[in-house]
Amino acid sequence: MARTKNSEIEIAGVKLKPGERRQLHLDLARLYDHTRLDLDIEVIHGRQAGPTLLVCAAIHGDELNGVEICRQLLKHKSLNRIKGTLIVVPVVNIFGFIHRTRYLPDRRDLNRCFPGTEKGSLGGRIAHLFRTGVLNHCTHAIDLHTGAIHRSNLPQIRTNLSNESAAKMANAFGAPLVIDSKLRDGSLRQCADEAGIPLILYEAGEALRFDENAIKGGLRGIISVMRELEMLPALKRKKTLAPASANSSSWVRAESDGVFRSLVQLGERVSRNQIMGVVASPFGREEVEITSPYAGIIIGQNNIPLVNEGDALYHLARFDASTRAIERVEQITEEIDAVPLPEDQSIGLS
Ligand SMILES: [Zn+2]
Repeated sequence: MARTKNSEIEIAGVKLKPGERRQLHLDLARLYDHTRLDLDIEVIHGRQAGPTLLVCAAIHGDELNGVEICRQLLKHKSLNRIKGTLIVVPVVNIFGFIHRTRYLPDRRDLNRCFPGTEKGSLGGRIAHLFRTGVLNHCTHAIDLHTGAIHRSNLPQIRTNLSNESAAKMANAFGAPLVIDSKLRDGSLRQCADEAGIPLILYEAGEALRFDENAIKGGLRGIISVMRELEMLPALKRKKTLAPASANSSSWVRAESDGVFRSLVQLGERVSRNQIMGVVASPFGREEVEITSPYAGIIIGQNNIPLVNEGDALYHLARFDASTRAIERVEQITEEIDAVPLPEDQSIGLS
């Protein structure tokens, strides 16, 4: 990319000069007692021109790994010399975050409220504010999620792979798995897609829990995407393995109520008809085995041992070239486990 000086931008009514870094506040709402509630964002506006990347988390208020990824990202000294602009929003759904819940106070899912309107529901208004005040400034976006409560996800990228830029970002991120996922109605991802902004969604770990590998993998992934977008200098030696791409995935559900014991782990490969877990009565007399409907890899798993009939227990991904893809998932997962992430700017020099 040619070295072009960045120009001034205006976000949240504040003008930032090239090389400026500011925490800004968008007026979101008020609590019942009229305590002000701001949507806080941090903008790092590089001296040189380049893409504007949004990194946001906790659009589901109880999904915390992304909040920690944002915190660690903002501490990185390499951000001092980025090309373009980085906009970081650690908590999008403030209401859900302070109440430790996925939802908004009216029980709506903010990630089904996009694009939103100024005169709509609370969720619609927040979505509208986020879209017009933040998203519309961006050329690329990374949305950070975790599994729902009591459910862990293997680190994975979900995106629309038919969008070339999104596919490049997904590959660069270096998560073990990429899922070509259809757009969901009302999601930030769909909203970005319709606005021509390539967005990748990172899913890793479980709601209300920190998962070190999910956090480490997320931070490395964002830095890698910034290198791909030439916001940061490229690494001399490229060692990243291409992630495995799942063809489809489905949930395996409990067929009976009771106490659930899992015999397999997240990230494990299973063969068709393999017994993955058992649901039994507390006395252990009636035991129902949960078997795998096809060969695949477990990319999501229920963690709570108490289950009802119909509860989703395992999220199983299916691959075309099954064996190789699964091996790649295993390799990359091990690599993320094994390599410590440098704490400082050495990430820009390694
Ligand atoms: Zn989520």
